[in-house]
Amino acid sequence: MSNSPDWVDFDHQHIWHPYAAVPGNAPIYPVIEASGAEIRLADGRWLVDGMASWWSVIHGYRHPVLDAALKSQVDRFSHVMFGGLTHEPAARLARKLVEITPEGLDKVFLADSGSVSVEVALKMAIQCWDGRGQPQKKKFLTVRHGYHGDTFGAMSVCDPANGMHSLFSGFLSEQYFAPAPTLCSHPDDGSDLELFRQRLRTHHNEIAAVILEPIVQGAGGMRIYRPTYLQGVARLCREFDVLLILDEIATGFGRTGELFACHHAGVTPDILCLGKALTGGYMTLAATLVSDAIATDICRSEAGALMHGPTFMANPLACTTALASIELLLSQDWKLRVQQMEARLKAELARCRTLAIVADVRVIGSIGVVELRGTELPPGIQQALVDQGVWIRPFRNLVYIMPPYVIRNEQLSVLTEAIHQVLSQYG
Ligand code: PMP
Repeated sequence: MSNSPDWVDFDHQHIWHPYAAVPGNAPIYPVIEASGAEIRLADGRWLVDGMASWWSVIHGYRHPVLDAALKSQVDRFSHVMFGGLTHEPAARLARKLVEITPEGLDKVFLADSGSVSVEVALKMAIQCWDGRGQPQKKKFLTVRHGYHGDTFGAMSVCDPANGMHSLFSGFLSEQYFAPAPTLCSHPDDGSDLELFRQRLRTHHNEIAAVILEPIVQGAGGMRIYRPTYLQGVARLCREFDVLLILDEIATGFGRTGELFACHHAGVTPDILCLGKALTGGYMTLAATLVSDAIATDICRSEAGALMHGPTFMANPLACTTALASIELLLSQDWKLRVQQMEARLKAELARCRTLAIVADVRVIGSIGVVELRGTELPPGIQQALVDQGVWIRPFRNLVYIMPPYVIRNEQLSVLTEAIHQVLSQYG
């Protein structure tokens, strides 16, 4: 890259990027600025952002309200340990989370990343059953095509085929898997729930919890499924006495058209994980929420406490920014905006269906997905999208977008037009 700053070569040679080789063997694009729904590359080009930095930047880059909140906390203190100390940003954020999440989720653990919040959820479930005198319940049941993070506990409940299980087998815990829920676009004969029920019936004595991404399975396939499936799973969890963990790390904060995707089904989980858009994408923070009753049982477990406590737990800068981000979201008609985005995405991505390379197009809320035929992306697609002036990062056979909510309609059209243009080149 001729216009690259001098640090880019060092980066390429020395720094790991997500799921990448070192030295890097794929193009990497240096960013020097970002604002609203656009990212500026070092060569001066502004790209319209279709990714919201992996679901997180819902209010766009450099939002004045979030910038001001963060700066005000920098002037007070940036961090103190959370063991034995506390602070107003954590308490105010936790109060807000209790207020906006489904009724009954009253206890909050502030973790430092989505994956860690999943680890905490798994620990909570295991410790809860220990506290209830059933320490043998240590396994988890989930569905195929799930994604819950890259740490080992989280990885163990990711899809076994595309979730690195064979690479780490022997170390990774073995969990139970049911088939993935039927896609909304496919007829539903109820067999998916029946197979789920069979797994529970056989193994419920060992299973601490079911873990699922509600309504949209993200990185494991960008699959949208029916609320009735989630309702069925919640019913089965009650019937067989296992906990339900919902991972709303990707779907939370309005992305699917409801504040939390579990609202589509009217389901309240026993344990809820939040992350990504929690801070408006400004920095890393996640939360695991749980009911009073489960918290009490966790504290009855042999350890007498929840056994997790990261160094940067409840970082005040992150908590302050998260509270500002939630208040900003709730101060707007975010639902209308997401509905408008959904209508546009549906209308504008529909024409991709006629392309020979396209297998399926699906949209929910402000998420648009174009699934390609075959299992791999055509070569050069990333560069072709950048050349169209957009930042979209396809993976596997999926070209998908979930832009910041502040994106203007004409910018959204730039994204959908670029997808159509680029895919047309491949037939
Ligand atoms: N769960 C889901 C549903 C996710 O989409 C992700 C992130 N892609 C995670 C968990 C892990 O979050 P993090 O990358 O912050 O560890």
